[in-house]
Amino acid sequence: IKTIGVLTSGGDAPGMNAAIRAVVRTALNKGLKVKGIQKGYNGLINDEVIDMDKKSVSDIIQRGGTILYTARCLEFMTADGQKKAAEVCKKHGIDGIVVIGGDGSFRGAQKLAENGVNTIGLPGTIDLDIACTDYTIGFDTAVNTAMEAIDKIRDTSTSHERCSIIEVMGRNAGYIALWCGIANGAEDILLPERYDNDEQAIINHIIEGRKKGKKHHLIINAEGIGHSTGMARRIEAATGIETRATILGYMQRGGSPTCKDRMYASVMGSYAVDLLVEGKSNRLVAYKNGKFVDFDIDEALAMKKDINEYEFNISALLSK
Ligand code: ATP
Repeated sequence: IKTIGVLTSGGDAPGMNAAIRAVVRTALNKGLKVKGIQKGYNGLINDEVIDMDKKSVSDIIQRGGTILYTARCLEFMTADGQKKAAEVCKKHGIDGIVVIGGDGSFRGAQKLAENGVNTIGLPGTIDLDIACTDYTIGFDTAVNTAMEAIDKIRDTSTSHERCSIIEVMGRNAGYIALWCGIANGAEDILLPERYDNDEQAIINHIIEGRKKGKKHHLIINAEGIGHSTGMARRIEAATGIETRATILGYMQRGGSPTCKDRMYASVMGSYAVDLLVEGKSNRLVAYKNGKFVDFDIDEALAMKKDINEYEFNISALLSK
């Protein structure tokens, strides 16, 4: 292998820059050439390929977002698009590629591998919704950002003796909601994997809390459930307690990555290059049971993930 490419795809996540930096510097140190592909698979198809040297990744480890930009690309879902992308790789001499993104991006990586380009995936998403790994790049920063924002909302919620519904990101996965629910000491934590639509139970919980002298009632709602504003309106009508909904939104995707995200993303980036140098392809770097490991992409995509039952039970106990 002589030249590798690196791209970010799907939703951005803090720590992607640390991963890009690690890929570039590890590869250069091993005597490889490195190309940066801008805007994910879109940029690959449209030949938006730049040379990367040591300096092109200077001063980025502490920055959120991705210096390579990211995009979703419909054309790459087609066989023609995939062929075009592989041809662009050939033109630039790229014989291996590191794809940083989520499940969708790994399906794309599979296709590139089928078209003769060695591919390694790195899990980059704030949602933590990739089954084969206990860690994804950006999750730690996102939960910390959300946690700090929720602390602030809690202050004002207590002062006004309000009920607050705070909606956090995570797509269809409830990991951000679960972590913030525990870390922020929420009274109710609503996860898409577990929520039974029982709004009356929440209302009863709020009324009970008030009777016990509680000054606030914090509900962490996951994006996958949504409808926080309507929920707030109905709860206020049923309890007579002022209830406000706050949707945290994209602030959770930005910001300077935490130490953990910088550190793990760096290790994963370097690991991905090692795999390419060993001639491996169609693999995904993961962090499982305290170790950095790698999986076959097909096997990884077939795995199912669920909320950890033990942690979920603890969240229920602590919020009572
Ligand atoms: P996130 O979860 O953060 O949104 P993701 O990687 O899952 O990240 P997607 O939008 O699902 O985001 O996928 C990113 C891109 O990967 C798509 O726009 C498309 O170009 C490519 N892709 C997704 N699924 C496939 C597929 N089945 N075959 C080929 N390419 C795919």
